[in-house]
Amino acid sequence: MDLSKYPAEPFRIKSVEPVKMNTREEREEIIKKAGYNTFLIDSEDVYIDLLTDSGTNAMSDRQWAGLMVGDEAYAGSRNFKKLEKTIEEVMGFPYVVPTHQGRGAENILSRIAIKPGQYVPGNMYFTTTRYHQEANGGIFVDVIRDEAHDAALNVPFKGDIDLEKLENLIKEKGPENIAYVCLAVTVNLAGGQPVSMANMRAVRELTNKYGIKVFYDATRFAENAYFIKEQEEGYQDKTIAEIVKEMFSYADGATMSGKKDGIVNMGGFLALRDEDLLIKARELVVVFEGMPSYGGMTGRDMEAFAIGLKESLQFEYIQHRILQVRYLGDRLKEAGIPIVEPIGGHGVFIDARRFCPHLDQEQFPAQALAANLYLESGVRAMERGIVSAGRDPKTGENRKPKLETVRLTIPRRVYTYRHMDVVADAIIRLYERREQIKGLRFVYEPPALRFFTARFEEID
Ligand SMILES: *Cc1c(COP(=O)(O)O)cnc(C)c1O
Repeated sequence: MDLSKYPAEPFRIKSVEPVKMNTREEREEIIKKAGYNTFLIDSEDVYIDLLTDSGTNAMSDRQWAGLMVGDEAYAGSRNFKKLEKTIEEVMGFPYVVPTHQGRGAENILSRIAIKPGQYVPGNMYFTTTRYHQEANGGIFVDVIRDEAHDAALNVPFKGDIDLEKLENLIKEKGPENIAYVCLAVTVNLAGGQPVSMANMRAVRELTNKYGIKVFYDATRFAENAYFIKEQEEGYQDKTIAEIVKEMFSYADGATMSGKKDGIVNMGGFLALRDEDLLIKARELVVVFEGMPSYGGMTGRDMEAFAIGLKESLQFEYIQHRILQVRYLGDRLKEAGIPIVEPIGGHGVFIDARRFCPHLDQEQFPAQALAANLYLESGVRAMERGIVSAGRDPKTGENRKPKLETVRLTIPRRVYTYRHMDVVADAIIRLYERREQIKGLRFVYEPPALRFFTARFEEID
């Protein structure tokens, strides 16, 4: 491998958290007790935690220093003003409604912008986003380009919206029956795939023609911007900040989970341009989140969030971020492990269908693979496939997504390249004995967002 392709860490480590290493026998006990659901394993029993990149980031010394200037007033906190100003500077949105995390913003947006029976087209669904859309009477329609559903297809900007699918839906249902277009940068469930600037611009032009609003899921906006700089013609000489500004110029607003590209442990917001929507959103934020000047965050959270948003625009930071993830993916690819391609922004997604061809999708191959990875190495990953997709609310049948993946999500600034090697080596060992991986069945299945708390047992 040509290591010069992967930049070394652009930071020094100032504080460390020791981790425990269990024996294989101990892990066998632990995974059984957790019902083969990696969400139910205690964090202290995990060696390398790739469950999520959500809220698991390492804050910078400046962010930690920011905690000390938290203004914890019930109303009018100066840290909110700073956060609001930073969001306007970075994204160009004049209005900000703070929330405790991304889903808080999704709840509010869905309530103010969806009338029951309206359609919400989006570039693939996200679990909590779709939950709130459906809970408010919306009908989610996937309008991502077909290629996104093919894990093996290596094409750039796999997160793009298929403009023909979108326009056909608008014509078929009538523009008045489209609540808004939900455009995620990057697309989490497609494997962290970016959306091109050309596509964002085209979606804006198309929706303008029909008078339809576009709201972004801005959760991984900086990662998306890096891909544009790297791969889209005409953007090589632009800064990440300039690219981000242009991306959001094509949106009417955005929901954001600060736990990702905000590089904090908690926080979120809804950003808007429209004053009428702002008024409605503020009426709801006091009911669900807190005062409109904190929305469930502490003053110090908001300070760290504002600093993190700016740090995510630094080229050295975001380049290392993306290329460290790519290093893990490239190591797996080199060993012939089937992964989703191209390698996305926040993690590497193993294609469990091709890893475990001996298992039927209803035997939860990705769930089983994630459980076996923990057993093999103490590395915690998570399922993104049939279990996460849940059941169709109308038919009660399992939704069967084409993508059946195990997600290895890399927290920001937490692990080194050597950690990536440990993960890659464990997966390669597991691949060599893959026929031994057994399918699973439910022992307990919760009604909503079942992947968080479901329990399974092995099928013999
Ligand atoms: C994490 C995430 C959310 C939800 O944000 P939370 O902060 O976890 O509530 C929404 N959309 C995407 C794409 C996400 O990754």
